[in-house]
Amino acid sequence: MIKVVASGAAGKMGMAVCRAVIEDDNLELVGAVDKVNAGEDINGSNIKIDDSLERVMDETHADVLVDFTIADSVIENAEIAIKRGAHIVIGTTGLAADKLDALKVISESSQKNILYAPNFAIGAVLLMKVCESIAGYFDRAEIIEMHHDQKADAPSGTAIMTANLISENLTPQPMQEIEKFKGARGAKVDDIPVHSIRLPGLVAHQEVIFGLQGQTLTIRHDSIDRVSFMPGVVMAVKAIGGKPGFTMGLDKIMSEVGV
Ligand code: NAD
Repeated sequence: MIKVVASGAAGKMGMAVCRAVIEDDNLELVGAVDKVNAGEDINGSNIKIDDSLERVMDETHADVLVDFTIADSVIENAEIAIKRGAHIVIGTTGLAADKLDALKVISESSQKNILYAPNFAIGAVLLMKVCESIAGYFDRAEIIEMHHDQKADAPSGTAIMTANLISENLTPQPMQEIEKFKGARGAKVDDIPVHSIRLPGLVAHQEVIFGLQGQTLTIRHDSIDRVSFMPGVVMAVKAIGGKPGFTMGLDKIMSEVGV
């Protein structure tokens, strides 16, 4: 049994993580942490939400911390968990490069492993892989990412990672552009325009449009429910113990388990 603590357990993703861990025969939910709703039960378990990660990690000796909180909490949470001997799976997005570097240092200076994935949906990871492999055939690409209106960061971590991967094989030529309204052409991530849409009713969706003379190719992924992320989270929790150091992206784990 792998003992798991969920951080951000009162949030939308944290609640889904708690359910997925409880439902998996090889995982045990031993703790749930959040800054809000302390004392409330996690349905289907005898675990109550606690507002102190230190206390929960000390009491449970968990093997893995799963973090779906806010970008400003991630480093502190990682330090607390690593000091108590846990591996860490992070899904919280909006982590700037300095935070990713800090996670690398935290992991390398311990014997514990950290995985950060901006998207745990298997289909979204496959979309990124496909985009990376076909980008070199096209002249230009643009990304439209669409999320619910509670999402704090923009562009999404998935869009940033997709742009990073596309730009390894595609360098768009500069165009003569006049933006009559600032932002009309999106944010440029590695020179790839990214357009962020935030609306109630959406969950997490991304469309990548590639252009070449006389044709376009559109690839789209939709997460229509947060359960879409859970097979990837569970896969990461099971694999993280055997993945030394800092790992960025679920694809590194998927290729090892043969997905
Ligand atoms: P949410 O606002 O519903 O939940 C976040 C929770 O974290 C809240 O309950 C908040 O009280 C709690 N929190 C904040 N600081 C904390 C701390 N220091 N310790 C413990 N709990 C703390 O948000 P959400 O929709 O659940 O998303 C959470 C994060 O996951 C966001 O960054 C989001 O972009 C990201 N996300 C990632 C994926 C993925 O596949 N990687 C998918 C969806 C969302």
